[in-house]
Amino acid sequence: MPEHGSINYIHMNPNKIIRSKRKTLSLTINENAELIIRAPKRLSIEKIQDFINEKENWINRKKRLIENQIKDVTSNHNKLLYLGTLFPINVEQNASKELFFTGEEFIANSIEPDSLSLSIKKWYKNKFKEIALPRVAYFANKHNLMVNQVRIKNQKTMWGSCSSKNNINLNYLLLMAPMGVIDYVIVHELVHTIHRNHSTDFWDSVESIMPEFQEHKRWLKKNGYKLRRI
Ligand SMILES: [Zn+2]
Repeated sequence: MPEHGSINYIHMNPNKIIRSKRKTLSLTINENAELIIRAPKRLSIEKIQDFINEKENWINRKKRLIENQIKDVTSNHNKLLYLGTLFPINVEQNASKELFFTGEEFIANSIEPDSLSLSIKKWYKNKFKEIALPRVAYFANKHNLMVNQVRIKNQKTMWGSCSSKNNINLNYLLLMAPMGVIDYVIVHELVHTIHRNHSTDFWDSVESIMPEFQEHKRWLKKNGYKLRRI
């Protein structure tokens, strides 16, 4: 009978254990579908392996999920998401612009990955400014919310944020999401100008502005990976 479960992880990858002063063990699956273990300084390998065995189902489920996400994104690498729809990218080497959208497809004048990736980001950023900034003003005016500055950024881990000075940051990669989702993130950050937390009052205010916000919140949770892997 095998002593361990099927994930005899530690003996294969001792480097994936991050030891620190923490008191508890934690397992996470990173964006490359690898298991990362955070453990207290002196906890024995056997104890860590026991914990992994206990969590085997969770680990496998989560790894499969991330692996499928990676497959999904790689299989669509020659397409671009724009407002929730995938459009093909085609190349016309003598096109006058680096990248433009015809309404049905994207036309790029280079397929060299670095320059294409730069032009995609630039296109998203400019288009996001054009589409999203008026939405911030619209919701702020309609609901009497005070915003200071709005900054457009590409933050890997955040869709939006709101500072104590009511400066709002928005992630331009949100342009890949449907309009309702962009509006939801804008409303979410605007409501933070009156509620600095995620209390019941906060969510009640979000709901009063956008009754169907749950649907958009779910979309982001389920599809967020597509927006991050660019
Ligand atoms: Zn929030």
